[in-house]
Amino acid sequence: MKLLLFDIDGTLLLTNGAGTRAANRAFEKIYGIKNAMNQIDAAGKTDPLILKEIFLNELNRDYAQQEARALYDHYIPFLEEETGKAEITVMPGVRQLLENLTAREDMVLGVATGNIEEGAWIKLRSAGLDKHFKFGGFGSDSHSREHLILKALDRAKDHIAHPTEFEKIFVIGDTPYDINHGRAAGALTVGVATGSYSRAQLEEHNPDHLFDDLNNLQSVIRIFE
Ligand SMILES: [Mg+2]
Repeated sequence: MKLLLFDIDGTLLLTNGAGTRAANRAFEKIYGIKNAMNQIDAAGKTDPLILKEIFLNELNRDYAQQEARALYDHYIPFLEEETGKAEITVMPGVRQLLENLTAREDMVLGVATGNIEEGAWIKLRSAGLDKHFKFGGFGSDSHSREHLILKALDRAKDHIAHPTEFEKIFVIGDTPYDINHGRAAGALTVGVATGSYSRAQLEEHNPDHLFDDLNNLQSVIRIFE
């Protein structure tokens, strides 16, 4: 049995600014800070790390847990609203790849994303991709991508009939964070240059496999054999 863990933003889909707008609205609502997200590079970072960076930038301090909870409580309905209005882009080849992989019995699919869990499901639903996933590791599990990948692996064991060790684990993502933390978690890593990092930039981090996009079904599924 193999386990495939997909990153969401830049790998499966793009919300075309809906996530950023939702986070900006939450910050403005609570702290009166406008466009807080626009000052930072969020790609590949977990929601708690993004939050930490914004607090340091804007308020010169770290955040308390109840502040994070209050922000997330505003962010989630804003995200529903913004993804409902936005044109969601599903990355090239993703729909046919997921249809193909979901039908197979030698693989289990999950997500490994920096999004908090509720946010991740909203984004997947908005693209019609949620049906392919039943579990994952999320930014709400840990600020560390390595740890949330391990959490996804843990949860994956509840979704197979005979929980043994997975023969292979793949982490598929669009940033160096997916590659480096995936490797640290013991996974084979697959870089996809559909996000904000180029193929050359991802190559520097030595992923086990590297694609411009996931459009060539045959060449992609071959690596999971
Ligand atoms: Mg990403």
